[in-house]
Amino acid sequence: MSRLFEHLDGELPPSLDTWVREHLAVCGGCLARTQHQRAFLRCLHSRQRLTPATEALRTRIEQALREGMARSEHSD
Ligand SMILES: [Zn+2]
Repeated sequence: MSRLFEHLDGELPPSLDTWVREHLAVCGGCLARTQHQRAFLRCLHSRQRLTPATEALRTRIEQALREGMARSEHSD
């Protein structure tokens, strides 16, 4: 699996990359996982490109989570 992810990142040497491609041609399970991971990576990359305010958003989400936890701690 780690090789599949490296393949998606384009970090594999050509010989291994070819091996992964050939494996995906015959292995439906790995192909499905690879396609899922590729869609995830594409989503991640496009988000990074489109939203320079990601850091602020992340901070806001973490804050909301902390407030939510604090609230549930006091709920009883
Ligand atoms: Zn496989």
